[in-house]
Amino acid sequence: MVSIPDCFSESYAEARAKFCAAAATAGGSIRSWLNPSALGPNGEKLHLDTARFGATDADKMLVMISSTHGVEGHCGSGAQIAWLRTGGPSKLPKNTGALLVHAINPYGFAWTRRVNEDNVDLNRNFGDHDKGYPRNDGYLAIADAILPRDWSAESRAESQRTLEAYAQKHGAFALQGAISGGQHTHPDGVFYGGVKPTWSNRTIRAIAREELGRARRVGVTDYHTGLGPFGHGELICTVPPGAKSYARAKAWYGDEMTSPESGTSTSAIVTGVMTDAFPQELPDAEVTSIAIEYGTYAVPEVLNAVRADNWLHQRGDLASPLGREIKADMKERFFPAGDKWREMVWTRADQTIGWALKGLAA
Ligand SMILES: [Zn+2]
Repeated sequence: MVSIPDCFSESYAEARAKFCAAAATAGGSIRSWLNPSALGPNGEKLHLDTARFGATDADKMLVMISSTHGVEGHCGSGAQIAWLRTGGPSKLPKNTGALLVHAINPYGFAWTRRVNEDNVDLNRNFGDHDKGYPRNDGYLAIADAILPRDWSAESRAESQRTLEAYAQKHGAFALQGAISGGQHTHPDGVFYGGVKPTWSNRTIRAIAREELGRARRVGVTDYHTGLGPFGHGELICTVPPGAKSYARAKAWYGDEMTSPESGTSTSAIVTGVMTDAFPQELPDAEVTSIAIEYGTYAVPEVLNAVRADNWLHQRGDLASPLGREIKADMKERFFPAGDKWREMVWTRADQTIGWALKGLAA
């Protein structure tokens, strides 16, 4: 009997070892990409690993991706390992393969951060950087409160007043959008999308071409945490309602599917998401993508942890007691301790994988 909580890991290094072992045991073909510019907190090398199952010329491919937002990889890695250990590969239908992408953002996973080694939010980095970026005036208005000079009680209270005033004027969801919608103006801020494709961006595009170039139908699931009710997995369609793949995702996932553009999601509208890479790199395939977003804690608590972590890396001392406190809080907000949350994660992941396989087969 597989212990589901044991499929989850307390660190990136533990997750990587478990993932590679489980993938090898299940007969997967494993490839690894070394991050060329960053190391982990213990000086360890950082890798993105993929495991592939099924025929090399499989028509249909199921794709599961973990750690787009670094620390959220505790969740996605656990789901991937649970799928491997519970016999997922052996249950794949004929003519259907699977590609597991483990730790697409290994730096963020290893350092307990949402962002990558460039302080970039990968899920805001996949737009066309030559085209210019959408404005985020809300962020400009509160940028100083997001990254205060110090993390004292006074400066935190002052930031809090600014954020609350913004929420009073524009609404709480507008505040969430201003902070998390993405910005390209403050490289030392939060939810920063960068001004060029990151290493993870370039690498996942190469992986898509090399591993999925022969597939006709591709179903992508990207694992996230931090929004919504505790343990619930919201299935978010990140393409606009007008897109062809939107209707397909609706057919696969039904009314369970939400959409930021339609106002049915807990997520703000964001642009430049990672899963956009797949239809771009696979123009001849039918790509259907979803983000599964598992709830943890209330939005203000989660965003506060993100702000604190950003301050810590920009202006604080990681080795200080405050630094350790911020890191522990960050981990809990994106990867709650205890067995229940992990069991809920896998139950929903298993259900969603079933729906994706059905969709691929239809
Ligand atoms: Zn996320």
